Amino acid sequence: MKWPSWMLKQADRFLPARRITIVEADTPPPKLPWRNLVLARENNEDWAVAFRCPCGCGKHLELLLIEEVKPHWSIYQYW
Ligand SMILES: [Zn+2]
Repeated sequence: MKWPSWMLKQADRFLPARRITIVEADTPPPKLPWRNLVLARENNEDWAVAFRCPCGCGKHLELLLIEEVKPHWSIYQYW
């Protein structure tokens, strides 16, 4: 079911903070959680982070974290 983006933005304010789940793999799993992020980590090396598009379209977005790949993303933990 596709929710209108305005409704998702309103509901998101009342939901708990997004969490990140770490999986031991070089790619994220094909099925992603509704709101949370999945970090694919193998042998202590971060490969990619994946999540469903926050606009509500349901598309899977995958950002590569491998430094050898250009371009690549970085992820930091601030707690
Ligand atoms: Zn989208």
